[in-house]
This record gives sequence, structure tokens and C-alpha cells, in this order.
Amino acid sequence: MELERKIEILAESAKYDVSCSSSGVENNTRQGTVGSTAVSGICHSFTPDGRCVSLLKLLFTNACIFDCHYCINRKSNAIPRATFTPQEVADLTMDFYMRNYIEGLFLSSAIIKNPDYTCELLIKTLKILREEKGFRGYIHVKAIPGADEKLIEELGFLADRMSVNVELPSRESLKLLAPDKDPFDLYKPMKQITTVKKEQEFLPAVRRGPSFVPAGQSTQMIIGASPESDRSIVKISENLYQKYQLKRVYYSAYIPVNQDNLLPAVTTEPPLLREHRLYQADWLLRFYKFTADEILSEDRPNFNLYLDPKANWAVQNYQRFPVDVQTASYDQLLRVPGIGPKSAQNIVKARKYYRLHLTDLKKLGIVIKRAQYFIACNHETPAGLIKDPEWIITSLISSKQYEVLKKHNTQSTSEQLTLFDVERFEHAKSR
Ligand code: SF4
Repeated sequence: MELERKIEILAESAKYDVSCSSSGVENNTRQGTVGSTAVSGICHSFTPDGRCVSLLKLLFTNACIFDCHYCINRKSNAIPRATFTPQEVADLTMDFYMRNYIEGLFLSSAIIKNPDYTCELLIKTLKILREEKGFRGYIHVKAIPGADEKLIEELGFLADRMSVNVELPSRESLKLLAPDKDPFDLYKPMKQITTVKKEQEFLPAVRRGPSFVPAGQSTQMIIGASPESDRSIVKISENLYQKYQLKRVYYSAYIPVNQDNLLPAVTTEPPLLREHRLYQADWLLRFYKFTADEILSEDRPNFNLYLDPKANWAVQNYQRFPVDVQTASYDQLLRVPGIGPKSAQNIVKARKYYRLHLTDLKKLGIVIKRAQYFIACNHETPAGLIKDPEWIITSLISSKQYEVLKKHNTQSTSEQLTLFDVERFEHAKSR
């Protein structure tokens, strides 16, 4: 098979993997024009220091032996199949790199023949790149679940980042929708990567040798293919961050690609707002010191589609506000909608030298429009007299936004609903 045809097939098959940030973005440039990434995939990823790097995104093979219900590449689908050779992937990467199109490679794979064989092919590819071609660019590679520990370790010494996709948020869903996968096999490489990295950190610098997965590990969960609540997904993410020190958990709104009785109908819209809320909650876990139990409770296990999780928490915990910007601790400031880690630091630094006024807060990066209901500045709340939490909700949501969300709710059957009821909202809005 021609290399170009392989690229066409395998870049198309790789686009459902969102473990790098720009995956799945619709690009309206025409194919064949400059800037068109409609077919072959170049995606963007972010390094720990915040730099954005372009990666060549490829699937090594889509000739999978597994039959996961939700996957376009499952063995029971009649789709064109292709497999690269290690040399082809290495040559492609170098060609793109030398032309300055990319700074690294994102290499994933379906399971061809068996997990060990697949992992060996990935190792061969990375060895050609690192050892024969001297490629020192960034490489993100999939750890193949079920592969031998020695192979995973060898792969980890060649890559910068590895990811093992959890795929679905519960064992039950995995059993039902990915019957060939053993949940144990998914978590085993994660655990191994964490352990080897820790062991390496404890060694004196001179004895460390080559770095093992220096950019850490990540995972991906599909949202909306199975019935788990938002709370259970956020709790799993929290657990993964704590237990395996993951760098990122990526969420992928399920795009129905297969007609299947166990899955939402093919006409179902991907739950993009839910995916967005999960990323917001993820941000709260990683940078705002929230716990999963604070973000969503057993009584209210799904996101408020009208309010982002932080604003929602603030409204539900209104008795804790307003906080005085002159005296509140850093952690208290961090809980205020409209104040982020950087602006909270700015407040703490600035107030050592002078008394803060509303105009100062704007200069320090606070979004007053959101924060005004939750802060006191010079003994006054900028929003004036606060009536009640419901009044805050209606003030935070513009009528236009509300109409869009309402329409979205009525159309979408797969969305999770809702925190406050629409009738009460209508009533409050009309007051
Ligand atoms: S293992 Fe499952 S999810 Fe992965 S490519 Fe094969 S069918 Fe798709």
C-alpha cells in the first residue's frame, strides 16, 4: 500500500484520541490548502513550562484485534485497514521535523496480533528515531495495556510522555463496552510508570542515567458513552491524580461512530458542554485545591449546565461569602469566582503595601463582573445589596446565555441535568 494512503487512513483513525489538546478540532480550511489539517494530523500539546509544541499525530495501525463497541477501529467494522512499518513512522517524523512543521511525535496504536507484538513495534520505531536518527524532539507514546512490564519500561526510556487510556469511567462499563480489555491491564502500566519514576527520583543524580518518561503520564476518558454521573468521573480523576501523579486527564465527548444497541444513537450530539464542565472541574482539582466531593455531591451528582463548577460551588456555599480582599487568606481568595491563582497572589502581595480599592482589583487581574457578589472591598460589596443566592445566579447568567442553554437542554437527550430547576429560574428572572 502507498505510504500516502496509509497516512490518510491512519491519521483519520487517530483523530478520536484527544490526549493532545487540539484533537477533534474542526478545521474549515479546504483540503490541499495551506493550514488544512483536515486529513493528516498535526496536533498541539503543552510542555510543563507552558510552551505549545506541534506534534505529528499518528496511529501505528488500525488493524485491531479487539472489538470495543465505541471505537471506529474495532475489528467488526468494515473500514480500510493499514499498518505503518517502524521505518516509515521514523522517516515521516524526520521529514516533518526537518521541514520545521513539527517539534515532536504523538504515536498511538490499536492492538495488532497481541499487546507485546504491538509494543515491540513501537519500541523499534522509537529506537530508530532516537538511536539511528539522533532525534531528540518530544515523543508522546501510548503504553500498550497488557504488554510485558519489560517492554513498557523499555518504551518509557525512549519517550518523553506516555499515556494509558482508561477509556471508560467504570469497570462495569469497560466490561460491557470493551469486553476484550482487562481493567487490571489498564491500571498496571500506570502503576508501573509511577513506581519507576519514583525509584529514579530517589537515586542520586549521577546514578540516574537516561530519564524515564520525563514529561510524566496522562490518560483519556470517553464521556457520554456510558451512564456514569459527572461526580463519579471527577472522583476517578481525583484518584488518578493522587495515586499515579498523572499530568493530565483528558475528557473526550463521545462521538457516536457505530450503530450499536449498547450505545447512544448515532444521531446523538456529542456532550460538548459536559466535556467543557469536566475540564473546568479538572482545573479546580489541579490548581484551586478543590476536592471532588466539594465540586459535586451525592445529592447533586451532575454539573450545573448554567454555571461553571466554581461559581456553582460559591453559590451553594454562599454563607462563606463575602470575603474581605484585605484580610482573606490566599486559599479563601482562590475560592472566589473571578479570582485565579495569579490574581490571588497579586492581591496578597499588593495589600502588604496599601489598602485595596475596587480600581486596584481590576488592575490586579480580578474579573469584577464575577467576583463582585462574593467579595467585600473597603467594607462594601461591589454588587451592592445582595438579595439571595438565586438572585446571584440570575445575575451571573445573561438572558442570552440562558436561552442558548435551554435550547441545548431540550434538544439533547444525552446531557446530564441539572442543578436548579428551570421554573424557579424563570420566576427569579422575572422578579
Ligand atoms: S483496543 Fe479497542 S479502543 Fe483501542 S483501537 Fe482497538 S477497538 Fe479501538
